[in-house]
Amino acid sequence: MHDPEGVIKYQLTHIEEPVPLSATEFSQINAWRTMAYQLGVIGQDSTRYGGLGFGNISQIVTHKAIQFIISGTQTGHEASLSLAQYCGILTADIDRNTMTAQGLCKPSSEALTHAMIYAINPTIKAIIHVHSPEIWHAAQPLNLPCTATDIPYGTPEMALAVEQLFIDKQLANTGTFAMLGHQDGIVSFGLTLEKAGIELIKYLAAARAINAYS
Ligand SMILES: [Zn+2]
Repeated sequence: MHDPEGVIKYQLTHIEEPVPLSATEFSQINAWRTMAYQLGVIGQDSTRYGGLGFGNISQIVTHKAIQFIISGTQTGHEASLSLAQYCGILTADIDRNTMTAQGLCKPSSEALTHAMIYAINPTIKAIIHVHSPEIWHAAQPLNLPCTATDIPYGTPEMALAVEQLFIDKQLANTGTFAMLGHQDGIVSFGLTLEKAGIELIKYLAAARAINAYS
């Protein structure tokens, strides 16, 4: 079973006020988001996922009250985002499936998945979730850790499955895993956005190399 993109599964309390991001913080996350768009792993395509936007990016910030910032929902079609298209997550209650967000737009429908990953491993400070058929279909030859086909994104089962990847040390030497229950879903993470981004690009290049010979 594959979940549609764009459906917000959690209960959201939305405070419609600007996110207090510095110019440096904004330009950093936006540079990686634009890069992912250019690589075709964040975007919107009428032939994929019912034409809904896909992929999102987040980063832990040190602002009072804001846990992390994340790209807004249904922004995939934009080549470059404005500050108003990012959102700050103030609270995330995974058990109750609720979030509080501040921003001029609503957060990505997959924001709770990002919150789950940050909660599992506090050394993770940045997450890029993309949709890459190339990496996803090459998950096996790439030896990518995977969550099972029957586990949809954004569920407590997904949180447990990702936690298990850490417990099994499958994510000890890599910052990327594939979600086989989420069509083309790949997650790269790291101590910084740069580390997460380089992880992603490394696997994209490796997948393209495999696909060229298969
Ligand atoms: Zn997704």
